[in-house]
Amino acid sequence: MIHRTRPAWQVSSWQRQLAEAFTHPEQLLRFLNIDHALLSGSLPAHRQFGLRVPRWFANRMEKGNPNDPLLRQVLPLGEELRAEPGFLTDPVSDLDQAPVPGVLQKYQGRVLLMMTGACAVNCRYCFRRHYPYGEASLERDQSSAALKFLERSVEISEVILSGGDPLMLSDRRLAELGNHLQSIAHIRRLRIHTRLPVVLPDRLTPELIRGLTAHGLETSMVLHVNHPHEISHKHRMMLAPLRERGMVLLNQSVLLKGVNDDIHSLCNLSEKLFSIGVIPYYLHQLDRVAGAAHFEVADDHALELHQQMQARLPGYLVPRLVRELPGAASKTPIK
Ligand SMILES: *Cc1c(COP(=O)(O)O)cnc(C)c1O
Ligand code: SF4
Repeated sequence: MIHRTRPAWQVSSWQRQLAEAFTHPEQLLRFLNIDHALLSGSLPAHRQFGLRVPRWFANRMEKGNPNDPLLRQVLPLGEELRAEPGFLTDPVSDLDQAPVPGVLQKYQGRVLLMMTGACAVNCRYCFRRHYPYGEASLERDQSSAALKFLERSVEISEVILSGGDPLMLSDRRLAELGNHLQSIAHIRRLRIHTRLPVVLPDRLTPELIRGLTAHGLETSMVLHVNHPHEISHKHRMMLAPLRERGMVLLNQSVLLKGVNDDIHSLCNLSEKLFSIGVIPYYLHQLDRVAGAAHFEVADDHALELHQQMQARLPGYLVPRLVRELPGAASKTPIK
């Protein structure tokens, strides 16, 4: 990530914050004044998929509360190591779908570019915990193959940058990619799927914003916020320049037991998203990834919550409740 030999003045603030993230459960529990008894279960799970939490995100957690909804998303727990039938290492069969390395096309008209395997935060429910991203992500030497694929795939009108987290890449590389995509006539839309501005809002540097909006593509950003406590005034301030430059801001959440599976959190999340200029887009049922079974919410409870949201909120604040099914032509609505 960061070269230790680089002089401090060259390291921008978001990169320094990444380097200073919590990477050990003991460190995080001490910071939050939480009893170390939790550690005995935490450590074996941490060895399988390491804890990673930027301090900015940890600062939004409630001190002394082991059930804090933000902490639960990132703290390794012994429950993760219990094998559960139906929970797999590649639940949505992504590995079969890459036409060239780093490119994933499941749906008509849009492709996903897996720009990097890296993320600023390790979310415990993420399929990334098992994904051999080293092989599948789009490292620099492979991007020309991916771009050639896009050039000859005339039916593709939208490119989605994903990962990992695409905003882990440098401002310059993202700007170059935007320019290149703009030069391909049939590509009209660029979308960025990212959690980085949520857990580390300083990532939205003026250079990044310029780079992501300087080309002529219609651009959107899909953030990933699961709980209203993740949102602050700082987000409103940092996201405003993106909206001013015409970017559409959306959000996707994952429905997670013990985190946001209650009507108050979900309604509050939608309203807080709107207050920072973001429209709720998807509420995902969990991908059944090994290690995440304790987060699963049953479909009938999910539906009930969704109906309650519809009864309490304007339609534009109700996200679509969906699941990803292998082989389906789109995300599948839960009915
Ligand atoms: C989720 C997903 C998309 C985006 O789907 P939309 O319904 O357009 O938001 C695109 N490609 C892949 C492979 C996906 O998994
Ligand atoms: S890909 Fe998204 S959900 Fe998965 S660890 Fe990274 S930020 Fe979290």
